[in-house]
Amino acid sequence: MNQAPQCSRCWKDLSLCICSEIQAIPHQIQVLILQHPGEAKSPLTTTRLVALGLQNVVHRVGLSWGSLNLP
Ligand SMILES: [Zn+2]
Repeated sequence: MNQAPQCSRCWKDLSLCICSEIQAIPHQIQVLILQHPGEAKSPLTTTRLVALGLQNVVHRVGLSWGSLNLP
């Protein structure tokens, strides 16, 4: 079990946080990321970092596209 304090933006341990280095990239097409719930809990996940690096992105955690409440 992970007891280390975590960053609220990238969900990584504060000792691994690189949020201050991330500059979101502008792009025209909206990117939709569907992340499996099991992967979202992994300490090795990079999905949040990808989402933070894009300006026009929707990041959802779920098991299927149909269960998402998209904007
Ligand atoms: Zn962070």
